[in-house]
Amino acid sequence: MARYTGPVCRLCRREGEKLFLKGDRCYTSKCSFDRKPYAPGMHGKKRAKMSDYALQLREKQKVRRIYGMLEAAFVTQFTHASSEKGVTAELFLRRLELRFDNIVFRMGLAVNRNEARQLIRHKHFLLNDKPCNVPSCRLKVGDHVSLKESSRQLSSLSQAKDLHARRPSVDWLKVSEDSLSGTVQALPTRDDIPLACKDHMIVELYSK
Ligand code: SF4
Repeated sequence: MARYTGPVCRLCRREGEKLFLKGDRCYTSKCSFDRKPYAPGMHGKKRAKMSDYALQLREKQKVRRIYGMLEAAFVTQFTHASSEKGVTAELFLRRLELRFDNIVFRMGLAVNRNEARQLIRHKHFLLNDKPCNVPSCRLKVGDHVSLKESSRQLSSLSQAKDLHARRPSVDWLKVSEDSLSGTVQALPTRDDIPLACKDHMIVELYSK
C-alpha cells in the first residue's frame, strides 16, 4: 500500500505543532519544530488569517498524519463511523485507536506508528496467537497482541520502551511488560484517547 515517504518533520511544521512522528529526536533539541517553529517553504513565516474551512482542513490533516494514514483510508473510517449510532467524532477516533499498528505503538513496542506498521508487515507480531501482517486490522475487546518469541531481540525495543514511559498510558489496554504482550480490555471513549485535537472540526469538514 502506498504511504507518505517524505520528510516527517515537515509535517509537524506544516501543522504548527509537534506531532511526535519520530522517536527520541522529538524529545531532544534536534527537533526541527523546536528549531524552526513556522511552516515550511519560502512563505512559511507569514501568518495569514485562516478561514473556517482552512482550520477544519488543518485539524483533519493533523490527526491523519498522527495516525499515518492515507486520505482514502481515513475517509473510509469516517464513513463507517458516521453510519454507526453514537457520537461520530468519538466513534471515528475509536476506530483509529483500535487499528493494529496503533495498538502496537500504544503498547510501547515500537518507537512510532510508522515503525509499528513496518514491524507488523514483517510479521513480528501475533494477533490472538496467530500471525497477522495487516497494520490496518481493527481489533476488538478481548483481542490479544504479542511479540513473537523469535523477535524479542529487536534492537529498537529498548528505545521504544523508554519513549513509552514518557507518553500518557491508556487504561483500555492491559500491557504485560514481561511477556511483551497486551489485551484490549475495553472500547476507548473520547476521554480515554490521549489525543489533543478538535475532533468536531473533522466531522464538520467531512459533513459538508
Ligand atoms: Fe515533529 Fe520534532 Fe518529532 Fe520531527 S522531531 S517529528 S518536528 S516532534
